[in-house]
Amino acid sequence: MSESWNKRTQAVHGGIRRSQYKEVSEAIYLTQGFVYDTAEQAEARFIETGPDEFIYARYGNPTVSMFEQRIAALEGGEDAFATASGMAAVNGALVSMLNAGDHVVSAKALFGSCLYILESILTRFGVEVTFVDGTDLEQWKAALRPDTKAVFFESMSNPTLEVIDIAAVSELAHAVGAIVVVDNVFSTPVFSRAIEQGADVVVYSATKHIDGQGRALGGVIIGTKDFIRGTVEPYLKHTGGALSPFNAWIMLKGLETIALRVNAQAETATALAEALEGHPALERTLFPGLKSHAQNALVQEQLGGKGGTVLSLDIKGGKEAAFAFLNALTIPVISNNLGDAKSIATHPATTTHQRLSQEQRDELGITPGLIRLSVGLEDAGDLLEDIKKALDASQA
Ligand SMILES: *Cc1c(COP(=O)(O)O)cnc(C)c1O
Repeated sequence: MSESWNKRTQAVHGGIRRSQYKEVSEAIYLTQGFVYDTAEQAEARFIETGPDEFIYARYGNPTVSMFEQRIAALEGGEDAFATASGMAAVNGALVSMLNAGDHVVSAKALFGSCLYILESILTRFGVEVTFVDGTDLEQWKAALRPDTKAVFFESMSNPTLEVIDIAAVSELAHAVGAIVVVDNVFSTPVFSRAIEQGADVVVYSATKHIDGQGRALGGVIIGTKDFIRGTVEPYLKHTGGALSPFNAWIMLKGLETIALRVNAQAETATALAEALEGHPALERTLFPGLKSHAQNALVQEQLGGKGGTVLSLDIKGGKEAAFAFLNALTIPVISNNLGDAKSIATHPATTTHQRLSQEQRDELGITPGLIRLSVGLEDAGDLLEDIKKALDASQA
């Protein structure tokens, strides 16, 4: 294995660990535990666990370890800890490092469950959380304090696709000694350079683009060896958020094709956004890759101009028109995952963001007509035709 490999090579070969049989494809070690040759060996392993040694699958497992090493290599991090879901990763990254009395600054445009952890769980244990508009550096500057322990944000927000300046926020956070935790799902491991840009900890829901085929839940926390083994591992191994070896294998195979899939999806998303922008049925077309996107300059710098694989369409006529649009689609399915090979359409106001008050939704731009469209691997022409027909139906 070579650290000089580029992402596409790391995604295929990174972290591989072969048994005595020298299998080509990664083995699934579907075992909860490991046998010790002697009592002395068991004792020694509990004192110090070597890199090729395992104790119990809640602590670590060879298949899970391959996934951790592969995603760490891909992301340019020193180490990683895999979790049962994306939310176990967000929770693990934050709770493992925070103490009562600590202060956290977070962007307010967050995935619903992330908001729940910051707003309703951390605060119950005496952590103070200040929410800011993540795109406004002045607000970050004003909220950060000497006792700020961590900052948290989604590098590209769900579902309004605001892009947060990782380098600038990291610089402000590091000036007060805060740890920068980035939920990087929408940026994907393919377009991300988050660690190079200043993030200390990167979190993924592997359920999204890493699996990419809608099969399994998973998550991962990437950071320095010190943070992962010293802070995250003790918390997660004792609280039980471990990824199953079978799901780790799905994620390993997902990583092998992630660059091809995500680049193809991003290309189609760009083509759709460009073709649909200005359509008479649309109030707004939100896609970070569009020249008209408020932060397109940042998208060029931070993501090499790639706008990701998701676009949001604000349909004229509110909820009724948005539902008519969804019900008229024949290729994208109505569901709530993203990053899947199948295109998926979601109405955030009544599903993923239903729990928020109308006031919170208004503040975040989640209007009654907003549709989030996760672009899959179908033919771009077929998708465009289907979406245009559904837009016509929405206005009928
Ligand atoms: C889906 C998602 C999560 C949660 O991941 P799960 O695997 O569903 O637990 C967290 N953050 C973002 C931005 C997501 O899109």
